[in-house]
Amino acid sequence: MKSPKVGFVSLGCPKALVDSERILTQLKTEGYDVASDYDGADLVVVNTCGFIESAVQESLDAIGEAMSSNGRVIVTGCLGKDEDKIRQMHPNVLKVTGPAAYQDVMEAVREYVPEKPKHNPFIDLVPDHGIRLTPKHYAYLKISEGCNHRCTFCIIPSMRGDLVSRPVGSVLNEAQALKKAGVKEVLVISQDTSAYGVDTKYKLDFWNGQPVKTKFYDMCEALGQLGIWVRLHYVYPYPHVDAVIDLMAQGKILPYLDIPFQHASPRILKLMKRPAHSENTLDRLKVWREKCPDLVLRSTFVVGFPGETEEDFQMLLDWLQEAQLDRVGCFTYSPVEGATANDLPDHVPEEVKQERYERFMEVQQAISAAKLQKRIGQTMTVLVDDFEEEFPVAVARSYADAPEIDGNVFVEDIDKSQIKAGDLLEVEITDADEYDLFAKLIRIKTA
Ligand code: SF4
Repeated sequence: MKSPKVGFVSLGCPKALVDSERILTQLKTEGYDVASDYDGADLVVVNTCGFIESAVQESLDAIGEAMSSNGRVIVTGCLGKDEDKIRQMHPNVLKVTGPAAYQDVMEAVREYVPEKPKHNPFIDLVPDHGIRLTPKHYAYLKISEGCNHRCTFCIIPSMRGDLVSRPVGSVLNEAQALKKAGVKEVLVISQDTSAYGVDTKYKLDFWNGQPVKTKFYDMCEALGQLGIWVRLHYVYPYPHVDAVIDLMAQGKILPYLDIPFQHASPRILKLMKRPAHSENTLDRLKVWREKCPDLVLRSTFVVGFPGETEEDFQMLLDWLQEAQLDRVGCFTYSPVEGATANDLPDHVPEEVKQERYERFMEVQQAISAAKLQKRIGQTMTVLVDDFEEEFPVAVARSYADAPEIDGNVFVEDIDKSQIKAGDLLEVEITDADEYDLFAKLIRIKTA
């Protein structure tokens, strides 16, 4: 006898991906069959994103597709906060739940699939690291939910609430289980990683019998003991981050920081209500680079924020020249429904936003390309993600590249039968273009 089958569609950012993994793990644990399509599914769960208008539209389209292909749909995730919007377009969805509402989703599944899962001898085989949607060798590690900031362009706090940090023992147990399952790299994510534990007043917890504080530094130090790559995302340039840079300099965690600066003009940062907007970030970067010369910095920026003058924008370009960041993403400002920035005066015309975007990218591309050129001749360790189908080339990443968002290191002329995804290779960098590096194999470090 077969168990009931649940179709699952996962949209959105890495944080939403982690929510999907939790729900999938729970479904499997309770004995449901899970499918990535609608065929023969008893119902479909759609995990949505509601961050910007295009994501809202993509989510509404995915719900529509699930409704027309299957007709029995549970909606969860960020867009679930706006039930009216969903029901306006899709009045017959079975249930709408919000972000990180694992239990609500499971209750709805149990309610709308009354047939109980059959006893499944494989239930015990649900791995203790759960079900993952990323390749086997890297995994996102979500350390908290929500955010205490109120950036004026963002609606995440109204969707996900204030910061709630996971107890550090549970974070570290998960990371340890991931390592046991073959993961070589964990990517620490949250809305504000540097604020980890503030809400718990840095509560003391236990891991492997040792006391550990639920605190940014303590968590990083403990993760550094696992002997796998640990990469930090969404960190803000507060003074207390300095101590974590020391861990990077000591080789305990990757010397890589993803800091969403968003702008450099103090006036615009204030209008954005950005965390750490009064910090002197250039001075801070200088100190960090002195402590850890290998440090790689990635960031994202918004141009054309309401009220941004040519002077503010020029300040941003000057800052960029001086900051010499390694990896940078840029967006033109677009209003998000419900964000308070919509009410700010002096919205920037579209053509000016576009023109600033192009000027911004021109400056940054030259910086990134020059930085990559300097890598030629260096020896680096890279982690293999994949292979090019038609060529003897491994698609890999070094410590300087996060999956999906940064570039790659293409290791050429390899013997594919000797190397697999998840292997660490020592390579020599032979060439560079604007985003990627090319390399030749020196040796396979792990098999
Ligand atoms: S820090 Fe700002 S942009 Fe990031 S989630 Fe919090 S409110 Fe939103």
